[in-house]
Parts: sequence; C-alpha cells; structure tokens
Amino acid sequence: MTVRTRIAPSPTGFLHLGTARTALYSWAYARHHGGQFVLRIEDTDVARSTQEATEQILQAMRWLGLAWDEGPIYQMQRLDRYREVIASMLSGGGAYHCYTTPEELAAQRAEDEAAGRPPRGYDGRWRPEPGKVLPPVPAGVTPVVRFKNPQDGAVTWDDLVKGPITVANKELDDLIIQRSDGVPTYNFAVVVDDWDMAISHVFRGEEHINNTPWQINIYRALGAPLPRFGHLPVILGDDGKKLSKRRGAVSVTAYAEAGYLPEGMLNYLARLGWSHGDDELFTAEQMVAWFDGSHLNKSPAQWDAAKLAWVNAHHLKAASGEQLAPLVAAQLARQGLAEPPALPALCALYKDRCTTTVELADWVALHLRPPVRTPELEALWQRHEVAARAPALAALRARLAEVEWTAPAIAAAIKAVLAEQGLKMPQLAIPLRLVVTGRDQTPAIDAVLALFSRDDVLTRLQDA
Ligand code: GLU
Repeated sequence: MTVRTRIAPSPTGFLHLGTARTALYSWAYARHHGGQFVLRIEDTDVARSTQEATEQILQAMRWLGLAWDEGPIYQMQRLDRYREVIASMLSGGGAYHCYTTPEELAAQRAEDEAAGRPPRGYDGRWRPEPGKVLPPVPAGVTPVVRFKNPQDGAVTWDDLVKGPITVANKELDDLIIQRSDGVPTYNFAVVVDDWDMAISHVFRGEEHINNTPWQINIYRALGAPLPRFGHLPVILGDDGKKLSKRRGAVSVTAYAEAGYLPEGMLNYLARLGWSHGDDELFTAEQMVAWFDGSHLNKSPAQWDAAKLAWVNAHHLKAASGEQLAPLVAAQLARQGLAEPPALPALCALYKDRCTTTVELADWVALHLRPPVRTPELEALWQRHEVAARAPALAALRARLAEVEWTAPAIAAAIKAVLAEQGLKMPQLAIPLRLVVTGRDQTPAIDAVLALFSRDDVLTRLQDA
C-alpha cells in the first residue's frame, strides 16, 4: 500500500500551531514511508474563508519546509464531484432530502431549553423507511440532504493515537451532508476527498473524534476503503488551558515574525505529542527517519515557551551564517534597515549569543547605525569610565587609521595601546565596545571591529 497523507486546513484564519503539528506529522509519516503528502484547502465555509488566509497558510507551510506533493486542492472547485456523489447516494437510498428547516430546528431547540429538557434534535421525520409514509413536501422549501446513518450496531476503529474506539450508531443522527445552498458539509466533503485522493492515513486534531464515526459510515455507504485515523491530543497553553489566541501567539506566522527558525519550530512541534527515546534536539531529516507512527502521545502536551527558545537557540547555533542571512535580512527590513554586505559573516559572529533571528538582527543593526546615547548607555559609560579612557581611545583611533583592516591587525593595535598606556584589556576593550557598539559585552572586539568599516569605527571613536 502507498502511504498517502494530507493536511486539510480551513482558510478561516492563519496556520494554527496545532494544524502545523498535524501537518508535520502527516508530512513526516508520508516521507518516512516513501509516500505522498497532499495539501487540501477546505473552503466550503464560504462566509468565513478568505483568499488572504489561504495565502498565509501556504506561506507558513512553505516557511516550515513542509513541501506538499499534490495540491493545493480547493474543495470549492470540486462541487460538481460532491453533487455527483450526492446524486448517486440519493438514488441508491443512502441519503435523502429533508425539508425540516434550520428555523424549525432552532425553534424546537428553544422550546426544549425553556422546558429544561435535553434537546431532541432532528426527529428523523423525512427518513425514508419501507412502509413509512413521508409528510407532504412543503412548498417553497429547498431541502438539505441528510445521510441515512445506520441505526443499529456500532462503529469501531483502531485509532493510531488513541487505540480502539467504539461509538454506537444510535448516538449518531442523520447528518446533513449538503446544505440547502448546494454546498456539502465538512463530514461529507472530507470523505469524498480522502477517498478520491486515496488518502491512507488521516492525522488530525482530537476535536474531530466525534466526526469520525459518521465519516466511517459514509465510507461504508460509498463502498470506499477506509483510511487509518489518528487523532492527536490538543495542545495546552502554559496555563494548562487549550492553546488559544486569547492566551498569546498561536499562529506559525507570529513565530516566524518573532524570529524563530523553521528548524526550531519543527523540532519543538515534533516533540509536542511524539517522542523518540530521549532525543530533544534533531533535524527534520532525523525526524523523517524516525517517524513511523509509534510513540505518539495520547494525552495533551503543554506549550513551553522556554523550551521552544532553548530548542530554537540550538538550531540557530547549528545554522550557518549563509543560511541565517535571508531570515535576518527579513527582520532588518521590518526595522527599515538594508541588508549589509557582510551579513553572513555578521550572523556567524553573533548567532551563538542569540535565541531568535530578531535578537540576531539587533546585533547586526549595531553595525548599521551608531549607538543612541540613552540614559542606560550613559550609566554604562560611567561605570566603565569611558571618559577616563579618552586618551587611550584617541591613541587607538590613530593606530586604527593606519593598520590593515583585519582582526589580527586590529588586535595588535589594541595590544600596542594597552602596553603604551599601562592598561589591562578590559579597561580598554569595554569602553571601546560601548563607544562602537553601545554594548558592554560582545564577541571578541577585534572580530567585531573587523566587520565594521574602518570609516565607521573611526567616526564613532571621533564622535565619542
Ligand atoms: N478542515 C478541517 C480542520 O481544519 C480538517 C479536519 C480533517 O483533517 O479532517 O479542522
């Protein structure tokens, strides 16, 4: 059997972290088995779906590096196919027209609520049965189509995550599969699509567990082979409640903007619901090699911002300056700063000190504009006696005007000034850092200066 997985986001908002994790697992599972990964846009909620959300989702998927083999396939472009299947179900007796209106159902619900009794729901009035006489068709009502769900027996499946699950058919009403506007509902379209696209393994969030028994019944009614299902537990926020917009960033895009690396996000998301021994830090390739569908957690994972930062810092260190440069350039552009020519070298110099590309861009920005004399910086000048070092800084400036512009030559010039002025390294190096970069701690100052232009260093020393 060819493994084929899919991710099927609804374009009603950004790519949620939970959906990103599902996409990652689906992608890794397909890759692990040499199969295919399909991207489908479930845009049948016409009122809430937007082109902008679709673009954002595609962009976030690309940013994560979750390359799809087929798609994006849009459900709204497949209406003819759904109608064809509905027509065959209607003629085969697996589905029927229902003229009970949403207004009637709402009125009934209100009555039940007022009387304090459990809601009766749709009463099966239009369900055809041998010997049953159906009510007269009301004029002017466009019917919905309902699935004729079996009333006896039970639906059982062996969930890839949760294990065996059984739901009695009497718990399941006759689901609406096509609204009166002719658009199919989620539970129907998803089955036709997964069948047509030969999806073998469906990973999705556990909020869909209740939908799966209906879907399985629809597969059976269509004579379609069943995929395997795996329902992933929710992700909880660090307050133990379901991760939601109200409690902080939940979109992949927000983390991209906040300077997390795709490698870091993938690594972190992978561990939110799956493990491979004690491995905490790994690449996407390693995950693909390991991800065989085992060791998926049944219980919810908790979002841990500190762990994400730690994982991301690891991947930042592991990345080369060349890899980081475009991401940092994007962060600089946000601040209205142009990309400096030495960007890869700057990234390589500072990456070990950073957690995100935002922090890295802040380091690079030190090379692009002179330090602002804030009260904090003034206090550092005081503490490190910058004023008292004026003669040494002036002497250094004179030497730097002459030397070859390389780190070793700059280091030699600094040493010569130390000897001449009888100073220890920190007594000159810290004031020098403060004057040129505005920070009292940096990587080796000769390496830092070498990545400035000579003119910039001389000007900053002069101005100071
Ligand atoms: N459009 C559904 C969602 O975003 C897809 C669920 C599924 O994967 O079946 O939740």
